[in-house]
Order: sequence, then C-alpha cells, then structure tokens
Amino acid sequence: MSYPLFEIASQFSINGTVENIEPFGNGHINDTFKISIKETGLSDYILQRKNHYVFKDIAGMMENIIRVTDHIRKKLESQGVGETDKKVITHIQTKTGEYFLKDVEGNYWAVFLFVEGSQSVEKIENPEHAFLAGKGFGHFQQQLADLPGKPLNETIVDFHNIEFRYRNFRKALEVNFQNRISLTQKEIDFVLEHEEEMHTLIRAHRNNEIPSRITHNDTKINNILFDKDGQILCVIDLDTVMPGLVHFDFGDAIRTAACTTEEDETDLDKITLDLEIYKSFARGFLDETKSFLTEKEIELLPHSAKFMTFIMGLRFLTDYLDGDVYYKIKHADHNIERARAQFRLVSEISKKENEMKTVIREIV
Ligand code: ADP
Ligand code: MG
Ligand code: MG
Repeated sequence: MSYPLFEIASQFSINGTVENIEPFGNGHINDTFKISIKETGLSDYILQRKNHYVFKDIAGMMENIIRVTDHIRKKLESQGVGETDKKVITHIQTKTGEYFLKDVEGNYWAVFLFVEGSQSVEKIENPEHAFLAGKGFGHFQQQLADLPGKPLNETIVDFHNIEFRYRNFRKALEVNFQNRISLTQKEIDFVLEHEEEMHTLIRAHRNNEIPSRITHNDTKINNILFDKDGQILCVIDLDTVMPGLVHFDFGDAIRTAACTTEEDETDLDKITLDLEIYKSFARGFLDETKSFLTEKEIELLPHSAKFMTFIMGLRFLTDYLDGDVYYKIKHADHNIERARAQFRLVSEISKKENEMKTVIREIV
C-alpha cells in the first residue's frame, strides 16, 4: 500500500522543509514513518497511520493520548526536568488545530516529534532489561497517578473483563465448531476449575479494595525509548492507554517477558516462568510505584501474572471453539496450541506463586 505521504505531512504544522519520509521501526500495529527535515537544528518527526481496525474510536484514543502526554509534560516542567521533548511524546496539530487527520480513504494519521538519539530494545534478553522495563512502565504509572479530570475513554471496551471473556467462552461452547469440544475437554475443565480464582481482581475492584488507574496495556520493552547510554527516555505507543487495574500492565509484562518460550510453543515441557526476570521487573516496577500503590494492589501483583496468562489462554480456546474467527492462524490447531501453552504457563506460575509472593515482600 502506498500513501501520499508528503501530501499528508503537509497538512500538519511541521517546522522546516520535509526532505524525506520513509518507513521506520518494527511496530506491528500501526504504520510508522520517519519525516526527515532538511534544515539542521530542527527536529525530525514521526508520521503514523493508526490502525483503525484495531482501534474503533480514534478520536477517543487521541484525546486520551493528548491528556496523558500534556499531564506528563506539565509535571516534568514543574520539576525543572530539561529536554522534555525526549521524556514524553509531543504531538503536532494539523493546520486546522486537530491532533489527527482523516484522509479521503478513511485512514487516520498522527504526527509527533521524533526523539533524537533514541534507541529501542526489541526483546527482554536479561534481568537488566527486565529491570529497566519495570522502571519505565512503573514510572509511567507514577506520572499518571494524579491525572485530574474525568476517567480516560475506554477505547477497547471489556479488554480485560473476565466476566465478558467467560460469557464469550460459554457462547463458543454452543457454537462448538466441528465438534471441537470433544478435542478440548481438558482445557474446558481447566477453564471451569479456575473460574472462581480468576475473578479475584474484579471482585477486589468491586469491593473497593483496588482502584481503577491508567494502564498502558502494551507493556513490551520495545515501547520504551532509551538514550545512547541505555538510560530510559520515555514510554511510547500510547494507543492502548485507558482506565484499568495496575495488574493488567504488571501481569502482561510478566507473561510476555518472564516466559522463556513463544506464545505457541508446542513442547509444553519447555514452558516455564523465569523467576530472575520476574524479580528484576518487579524490582524496577516497585521502585517507582510502591510509594502510592495500596497494600492490596501489591499483594495481588503475583496473581496478576497468572490472570493475564489465563485470560489469553481463555481467548485462544474461545476462538478455537468459535472456528478461528478472531486471531490469525497459521494452521488448523494454532489456537488450541496457543491456549495449551498459556494454560501450561498458568500451571507453572501456580507452582511458583509462593516464591513470587516472597519476592514482592522482600522488595517492599
Ligand atoms: P506500534 O503500535 O505499531 O508498535 P509504535 O508507536 O510503538 O507503534 O512505533 C513503532 C516503533 O517506532 C517503535 O517501536 C519505535 O522504535 C519507533 N518510534 C515510535 N515513536 C518514536 C519517536 N517518537 N521517536 C523515535 N522512534 C519512535
Ligand atoms: Mg509499539
Ligand atoms: Mg501499539
């Protein structure tokens, strides 16, 4: 797909002469381009086509992003932190004063400052990376703990709502595509056995034991920019920022970073949770957040890793029973293999839960 990139860029209030626009980075959701500016001394930009198949409410999403980044920028300025353009993403308006542009083909575009001299890490390879990722997302949580005003827009409705996921699962049991129930009785039993436990977070929230906060919802290390010396600059990729429990961010980071295998590993015996990675991420995260998280929130952090892993498994199993309508699959068994891998990880986490709790207690 080729887009009239220069024409699109020209509709934003860009400083300087656009010299070049080319694909940039390794994002999987949006199409990201770098706008190079001819004049030295002026900043380059990122031009991004937002994925409106994933995000149905681009206006709501952009409103969230602007509220969040404005809040962080004000805070940095009041703290006298220099180079704020590198420590928070700065969005650029169109010439008509909007933060996004809808083109004639129905694509949505945003422009923000390119963070000069930044680099990203694609994958957590060691405990140091895990510590930095924990710090980065923990700091982001801290910066947003006092965002004033109404709650952010819920741009992906029911994303981590376990009741909604169980309802969909039960509907899928009725669909029972190609009688797949007969092939998945073990996994179905697993889901039913865990029903009570997996409502722990939603119950605690309803009982006012844990508050709704602002969550990033894509806590991968490649969504943090680092400087040349490996110091954290800022958290990026704010498309999924919305109201949520702190556990969604912590748990999903552990699910993806501390699991030693791919999401669709078929050799289940290889699947395990790396406690060193867990510990380092938790240390970084709690360094930044323990001053304001409640006791109950901290107590439930180990559970969150299990919860986020379980809910992914539940969604894969549901899609398998539905006849593979949601996730892209590479072969007929792909969804059930993914579900089995996630459920094995849930069981591995259960075995290590006491150690995981001890780690948290030692940190705080
Ligand atoms: P996606 O949702 O597709 O992952 P991202 O917003 O994460 O999109 O952008 C994709 C990649 O582009 C990032 O991983 C990062 O390497 C790079 N990138 C994004 N924004 C900036 C920026 N402001 N400055 C420098 N690089 C950036
Ligand atoms: Mg990204
Ligand atoms: Mg993204």
